[in-house]
Amino acid sequence: MDSEKFREEGKKMIDFVADYWDGIRDRKPLPAIKPGYINELVPAQAPSSPEDWSKIFDDIENVVLNGATHWHHPHFFAYFPTGLSYQSIMADILSGGIAGIGFTWKSCPSMTELEMSSLDWVVDLMGLPEHFKNSHDGPGCGIIQSTASDSTMIAIMAARASHVERIKSEPTFMKWVSETGVGKTLKGIFDRVKVNKIDDEASGIIAPYFHDPAVFERFVMYCSDQAHSSVEKGAMLSAVRLRKLKATRGFLGNYGVTKETLQNAIKEDRARGYIPFIFLATVGTTCSCGVDQIDELGPVCVEEGLYLHVDAAYAGTFALCDEFKYLTRGMEYVDSFNFNLHKAGMINFDCSPMFFKNGTHVSRYFNVDAIYLAHEYQSTAADYRHLQVALGRRFRSLKIWFVLRNMGVDKIREYLRRTELLAAEFAKLILENGKFEHFVPQHLGLTCFRLKNSTNADNEKLCNAINDDRRIHLVPSTVHGTYFLRMVVCSQLTTLDDVIYGRDVIFEIADRLF
Ligand code: PLP
Repeated sequence: MDSEKFREEGKKMIDFVADYWDGIRDRKPLPAIKPGYINELVPAQAPSSPEDWSKIFDDIENVVLNGATHWHHPHFFAYFPTGLSYQSIMADILSGGIAGIGFTWKSCPSMTELEMSSLDWVVDLMGLPEHFKNSHDGPGCGIIQSTASDSTMIAIMAARASHVERIKSEPTFMKWVSETGVGKTLKGIFDRVKVNKIDDEASGIIAPYFHDPAVFERFVMYCSDQAHSSVEKGAMLSAVRLRKLKATRGFLGNYGVTKETLQNAIKEDRARGYIPFIFLATVGTTCSCGVDQIDELGPVCVEEGLYLHVDAAYAGTFALCDEFKYLTRGMEYVDSFNFNLHKAGMINFDCSPMFFKNGTHVSRYFNVDAIYLAHEYQSTAADYRHLQVALGRRFRSLKIWFVLRNMGVDKIREYLRRTELLAAEFAKLILENGKFEHFVPQHLGLTCFRLKNSTNADNEKLCNAINDDRRIHLVPSTVHGTYFLRMVVCSQLTTLDDVIYGRDVIFEIADRLF
């Protein structure tokens, strides 16, 4: 494909995407296919010679869209939303067109600097602490990660490293090494510490300094038993113990961890010889949109010397509106905060801002220098590679820049408010036939409900029947063994009529089954 053909076919592709959006109501949210459907449509071997573009284009409907779950269908009520706007699609086209990789400032200055300034806009719009700004004099900063899961993993590793560093700087540490034998392989070579690692010249082995498993062997981290699965995965991959704290009903009648629960766990675990090092709070749990109250839990973390990370993957964006700012109360205690603009922020996946109180400090834990990455401004300019696992990164900030400039933040606020209002309507509608009850009060775009006087199996049967029917799509969840259905207002196209339609489908199927 040369540039002429690209101009011609690219325009057709834009039309195709716009048509897909305009006609999405004519589809169903879930495809009518079974695993392996692709084998009948796509040959096992790649073609031996290039195929004509028009042939490939003609296959998109059959191979791709017929097998797609339509996340932006007005009757898609599952998971949490994923963002979308023409402005951010444009940004992705441009990012793909520039096709650069911005791991250091030098490798693409505009990619680094636009990210820095667009995230400063976000800090202002959300009313987050000034110290999260890239332009702030202090060591705080913001970066766009790919996902909330990546941010969680980074936070755990940063907290782990900071605790290892603290322990190693204590005079008692060497005494502890000799008494316990823990880390004895490294004994005697701490004085040769350079950055991030210890080079044992005799053996050629490079040992991690900040990520020293001998020191974090007895570390334990905390999260709510309602935290997302990515937190457990982050703990597992960071090789640290995880204690899930029982969330109880409290704030907003929903599930969250109390400060007493956290305090007791820390005390008990210290008595058992463990070293608590991070509390990973959730603002807007996936199961029920519960909140770990940061203004309550933050002081405990400060007092006990724990790193505090906040995963607000879905709910965070709502803090763009004044009436939802209760979600970010206590941000001054937070070491790192993350949310997905690609969920409720009308921005296409992936765009997951993460803010650090002390990013300069944290960046040392992820730093591995190589001559080919060095540049003349590295001591003064930001090199984002030091705050992520991967080296490469793409031009994600274009999405924020285009959306905030051309769509405007008020449009996003309008979407968030409409989402919440429609969810509140659904919460009323679902009670109308007297068969259902709320599991917790509706919060933001999520309503959790179940059949009255029912068993888990009844609700599971209902949920499966609704999804088999395919007119609407939602997913279930459980909290402490109770199964319920989750209805999330996701699509920008969803109206009150769609919510009523959703209620009608649920009532019709429930009447048929029970
Ligand atoms: N955290 C919470 C609270 C979530 O609800 C989700 C996904 O819905 C995630 C993390 C994972 O998000 P990501 O796909 O960006 O890793």
